[in-house]
Amino acid sequence: MSELKAALDRLASTRRLLVALDFDGVLAPIVDVPSAARPLPEAAAALSDLAALPKTTVALVSGRGLTDLATVSGFGTPIRLVGSHGAEFDDGATAMDDEARVRLERLVAEVTALVGHEAGVRLEHKPTGIAVHVRGADDAVAQRVLDAVGAGPAAAEGVVATPGKAVLDLAVVEVSKGAAIDQLRDQLSADAVLFAGDDVTDETGFARLRDGDVGVKVGDGDTAAAFRVPDPAAVADLLKHLVSARASA
Ligand SMILES: [Mg+2]
Repeated sequence: MSELKAALDRLASTRRLLVALDFDGVLAPIVDVPSAARPLPEAAAALSDLAALPKTTVALVSGRGLTDLATVSGFGTPIRLVGSHGAEFDDGATAMDDEARVRLERLVAEVTALVGHEAGVRLEHKPTGIAVHVRGADDAVAQRVLDAVGAGPAAAEGVVATPGKAVLDLAVVEVSKGAAIDQLRDQLSADAVLFAGDDVTDETGFARLRDGDVGVKVGDGDTAAAFRVPDPAAVADLLKHLVSARASA
């Protein structure tokens, strides 16, 4: 943690700072029922403190739909919210056009007909796509559903498939957390970025980090991030450290 703390101390003295964070598995422990996920109180308090500091913007960048993210996180202005892997910004930015809307209608119809009836499978409708959740399904059903969707609707032209933990996210516009972080960085003219994530989808974020940024992978798994912490409790600790370092910088 000491090298990470040194990196956070350097980050704390940057002029305009963007703190971009995944939600599930980073601020909130992973739970079986996605709607029951809540940020750790220590992490939530540190985020509010960070967001109150001058020239400091906090953004949650999640695979969840924007409304869902606002509900489970409990956050809103001044904390920025970006949902659906970057497809939904809280300021209304969107990448949908007429062709994308037609693709979305077809995608939703195909996925629903193919796996909507499977036990324990939940389909989550999003403004730019649909997510197939299999956390509640038996292993055999989950595998069958992911295979069928992967070989069918997910492989269609103009559909972007993003696998996560027990979920296959399908979007009709090209979006990524990495692109979302770039967009926020430009919007805010941020001089440096802290990004923390736990899932494979967060690697698009780590891949876009630049010199002076700090990337933190939460938990196990391959990563392009320079730093790693074990769990959301450790994320809360690093956020607390950043708050005090930046407050005194
Ligand atoms: Mg996550």
